[in-house]
Amino acid sequence: MFKALVVEKDEDGKTKASVKELTLDDLPEGEVTVAVEYSTVNYKDGLCVGPGGGLVRNYPHVPGIDFAGVVEASDDPRYSPGDRVVLTGWRVGEAHWGGYSEKARVRADWLVPLPEGLTTRQAMAVGTAGFTAMLAVMALEDHGLTPEKGEVLVTGAAGGVGSVATAILANLGYEVAAVTGRPETEDYLKGLGASRIVPREDLAETVKRPLETETWAGCVDAVGGAMLARVLGQMRYGASVAAVGLAGGAALPATVVPFLLRGVNLLGIDSVMQPYENRVRAWERVARDLPMDKLEAMVQPATLDDLPRLGADILKGQVKGRVVVDIA
Ligand code: NDP
Repeated sequence: MFKALVVEKDEDGKTKASVKELTLDDLPEGEVTVAVEYSTVNYKDGLCVGPGGGLVRNYPHVPGIDFAGVVEASDDPRYSPGDRVVLTGWRVGEAHWGGYSEKARVRADWLVPLPEGLTTRQAMAVGTAGFTAMLAVMALEDHGLTPEKGEVLVTGAAGGVGSVATAILANLGYEVAAVTGRPETEDYLKGLGASRIVPREDLAETVKRPLETETWAGCVDAVGGAMLARVLGQMRYGASVAAVGLAGGAALPATVVPFLLRGVNLLGIDSVMQPYENRVRAWERVARDLPMDKLEAMVQPATLDDLPRLGADILKGQVKGRVVVDIA
């Protein structure tokens, strides 16, 4: 028997999450069984623990889009018992049972060996949010961003993606301007390496002029919506925005003028279906470029029992930094 957070749906369509005991026979099919040590809480987890958000296919469901742990049994030659592994994406925790469980069974193709120098706890302090922040920074670099080009904007900075993006960029020598709607997080963000704070209100208004003063050499955007539209008009000539999230809305009330007159690039970032080679590259970059003391400063520890509350909090934008769920 082992413990897992199980979400059930009643006849009225209401969901309820509670910690239950399961057996190995309850787990779905897959080549690799992992003893999960840590998981985390992302925005999507908030949806899957609570209302489902159209992501969960079948109930009862075990959420948890990320996990890190140790291989317990494997029918795949790439993995042996004792190997330390990390999983993000592939719709695990949404369409498949996920990491809010002491045991998980998944396809070998979905796993990545944990890079040297990273513990399973640190891997989950990073999680999908941090992995995606790394992908965003890599995309900006691939499009020519270097520290000499100027200030880089991070939106939703006190959230998971934003916190990790801020710490990585600052560590790589970038000047980081951090957008937050929570002024009380200023010391936290400066501690991660932000050189200045931009209040959310400054970028909240919808676009009035398609082009504003050229300000940002790059942007990691976790917010989308009206804020992304505003930011596009403030990018420097030839600069790129990595679009990661929609915490502020999915609509993009923008004009195409920044693309046409300033050669601005809008780079889409998807973490879920990233090819294996790029996952390995991103995890290796995380181990190298994210200072572990900064990562530790982002961590909020939690247990399986805390997840229903934390799931609701993240949907309200009230989680600071990265939650690490101690599963084992
Ligand atoms: P968090 O909730 O931790 O962070 C989001 C942050 O956005 C909040 O902390 C807040 O930052 C800001 N924010 C929230 N609501 C608003 C609003 N209405 N207007 C402006 N800013 C707002 O989530 P994550 O960091 O985990 O994820 C961020 C986004 O990225 C989500 O939309 C998520 O779905 C998406 N995502 C996408 C991935 C991909 O593969 N493309 C992978 C991972 C996440 P502050 O308080 O500092 O203002």
